Amino acid sequence: MLKTNWHTHTKRCGHAVGTDEEYVIAAIQAGVKTLGFSDHAAYHTPRPRSRMNIELVDDYFSSISFLKEKYRDQITLYLGMECEYYESEWETLSRYRKDLDYIILGQHDLWLDGPDVYHPFSSEQVFEYVDLIEKACSLNFCDYVAHPGVFMWGYHGVDDTVRMAASRLADISVKYDVPMELNCGSGVKYGAREYTDGLRYAYPVRVFFEEFAKKHCPVIVGLDIHDPKLFQTDEYINRALSVCEGLDINFLWDYDLVSAAKKRKQLFR
Ligand SMILES: [Zn+2]
Ligand SMILES: [Zn+2]
Repeated sequence: MLKTNWHTHTKRCGHAVGTDEEYVIAAIQAGVKTLGFSDHAAYHTPRPRSRMNIELVDDYFSSISFLKEKYRDQITLYLGMECEYYESEWETLSRYRKDLDYIILGQHDLWLDGPDVYHPFSSEQVFEYVDLIEKACSLNFCDYVAHPGVFMWGYHGVDDTVRMAASRLADISVKYDVPMELNCGSGVKYGAREYTDGLRYAYPVRVFFEEFAKKHCPVIVGLDIHDPKLFQTDEYINRALSVCEGLDINFLWDYDLVSAAKKRKQLFR
């Protein structure tokens, strides 16, 4: 099991289970030393099964701060969020950026409640997705990119568009020094499926990691955990790692994301 995990949800997002304290206790039992909470960010419109409600944000802050103190001798807790880059929500996002320890970018839609990665994207939409990631990184808004190939869930298979997207994501990672994530969440949890390029997990997809290895991008393993029980198993980490077997990946184990975030926040306007 990992000693550090920055990608942890809470039941506020509507598709995770367990209390905040159960996540903390399960992480301690699994030997995790640094745990970052990164629940799905709230925006001005509610979407009960996808993200936190804006009314729950204060409770999220106070609950994690309380647990941080309570368990300070056993584990170091940090407060982050998994945000999308949405221009329409920039005021809210800027506030999160200033108030939180760190932000991971999990771009699930092209705009607020717009086309999402769980439905088939066109090539144009894949490039729009990459543009949003580039924009967020260029603004020093985020500290790592969660599941960079998440659109492969709905996209038909690996083709030239995907190869170009993977290459551009690698360039973005290098240019802005933003780590990419090897995600151990739903993509591997639901098992391999048939795509036009064959049987594979929805994400992570090897072609992205070939590019990340080639360009020596920093990569962080993120559990993307939605159930405290999943701290007890290595099954999904092993599945995710199997995707990049044999590749020379620049893994950042036990990376101090919060120190990196502090530096980026100084550059953030
Ligand atoms: Zn989620
Ligand atoms: Zn997540």
